[in-house]
Amino acid sequence: MPIYLDHHATTPLDTEALAKMLRFFTEHFGNASSIDHRHGQEAGAAVEIAREKIAKIIGARKGNEIILTSGATEANNLAIIGTYERHKANGRHILTTPIEHPSVRDPIAYLVKQGAEVSYLKVDSSGLIDLEDFRSKLRKDTILVSVMHANNEIGTIQPISEIGKLLNGRETIFHVDAAQSLGHIALNVADCGVDLLSFSAHKFYGPKGVGGLYVRSFDKIVRLDPILRGGGHERGMRSGTINVPGLIGMAEALSISERRRESDEKAYREFRDNLIAAVKAVKPDAKVNGHPTQRLAHNISITLPGIEGKALVHHLNKQLSFSLGSACTTTKVTPSHVLKAINLSDDETFQTIRIGLGRGVLLPDVIEVLTDGISSFEKSRKPA
Ligand code: PMP
Repeated sequence: MPIYLDHHATTPLDTEALAKMLRFFTEHFGNASSIDHRHGQEAGAAVEIAREKIAKIIGARKGNEIILTSGATEANNLAIIGTYERHKANGRHILTTPIEHPSVRDPIAYLVKQGAEVSYLKVDSSGLIDLEDFRSKLRKDTILVSVMHANNEIGTIQPISEIGKLLNGRETIFHVDAAQSLGHIALNVADCGVDLLSFSAHKFYGPKGVGGLYVRSFDKIVRLDPILRGGGHERGMRSGTINVPGLIGMAEALSISERRRESDEKAYREFRDNLIAAVKAVKPDAKVNGHPTQRLAHNISITLPGIEGKALVHHLNKQLSFSLGSACTTTKVTPSHVLKAINLSDDETFQTIRIGLGRGVLLPDVIEVLTDGISSFEKSRKPA
């Protein structure tokens, strides 16, 4: 198999997390809501322990502040549509950034058709928002602020704790999409004043198809309308039988990621700097995107002038798996909205590749394959 360098799209399941999940498929298969018999009670007890584990890691007060979902797409939809439906009588204004993931952008666009008003914060050429601009765009009728923690294309980390401070004491609900950050960088909802936090297990070596939304219920009690109605699970906010093995795997994977976080971050930073230097040695006009310091250590977004990113991905696909922008937009031929927002030209957006470092990837192998690949690609395109 090629070397996997697309850890923003997804990560492999940690084998320890898998081992913990297995008996919840077979032996302890009970429905966690069947509280009247042993099978249900056992599953239910494991669910509560896993919830508490996640709550503790993110700085939540209680396990029941974690609403389980199928992933970050659903958590983002619930946060945004659920807030708007519940609070639209108090205001219809939403404040967000132009570089959010489609699972935030699209629900907001849908709400605009229902009568919401949206303002977009400015981002600079590194993708960072400006707190003065934030202050000036915040209105009395702003019911929701939705700002992602770390960007999935360029890795830039937003100052969410500063935003939390500016919102302190207001009714405005603060939502953060932490799909790319949880398990990778330090994050504490209480310290950052976050009311709603979306996350997804498969981004931190957990299973696919499970994630969650933290919904604050201390200091400020945040209420949302559900988008899925039914049996009233998850405090009425998300009906549907709980994915017990998924949750167990998510809690375990998150604990492992937290344990490794600091040493992994350090190693990725070194790996990234060496890889960028090696690419620049064969392609001196290569340009790295995103913030130089406030960024995910395992992300590299790099523009290679004259090289079409998609063609390079195909040229190298026997040796490396990496991508252009985000996996969720690779079927579209439109330029990445994130790269456009940081002022890349259309041509530059198509000449940009995204590398997501991860566990077990060896630097010398990557340097050799990528630099040889860039050189051989350029040679193959030069007229004889
Ligand atoms: N938000 C961000 C920033 C993401 O990168 C992703 C995944 N690409 C999502 C949300 C959606 O996550 P999921 O795959 O769990 O639906």
